[in-house]
Amino acid sequence: MSDLSDIYQEVILDHNKAPRNFGPLENQNRSAEGYNPLCGDRLRLDVAMQDDVISEVRFEASGCAISTASASIMTEAVQGMSIEEAEALFEKFHRMVVRDGAVSEGGPALGKLEAFAGVGRFPARVKCATLAWHTLKSALADSADVVTTELAGDAYGLGADGGSTHA
Ligand code: ZN
Repeated sequence: MSDLSDIYQEVILDHNKAPRNFGPLENQNRSAEGYNPLCGDRLRLDVAMQDDVISEVRFEASGCAISTASASIMTEAVQGMSIEEAEALFEKFHRMVVRDGAVSEGGPALGKLEAFAGVGRFPARVKCATLAWHTLKSALADSADVVTTELAGDAYGLGADGGSTHA
């Protein structure tokens, strides 16, 4: 097994140290909270929707470097996207982190999100990396429930690929 430090790529360290879009959003019309009990990551997302487009997203979080960096990079990635585009991006990102970092063909470009490819080797860290995305999904669905990763179906190997047999 590789060392955990392998997953702390420079882009992750940078976004953890200086999170983008951090703090509350004044004109939000959607918000959601997420919690990852396995690691203790907490997250609050504010979203401003304009018609079907995510015009602005900001977040507040306390948690590990992976969860904070993932939220920061996500807020940059989804700005200006429609709900469908954001969901397509999440699906591709999710496939990558549950499949040992393999990026699937087609679909939206992952860009900086590829920094999380190494997370797939650490099942517990998958939840840290996807917490912000599950929370975004909840905000976009206008759900009042707090998202917890225990209910989000992120068990290792049980992702969008329908279950894998990685050891
Ligand atoms: Zn975490």
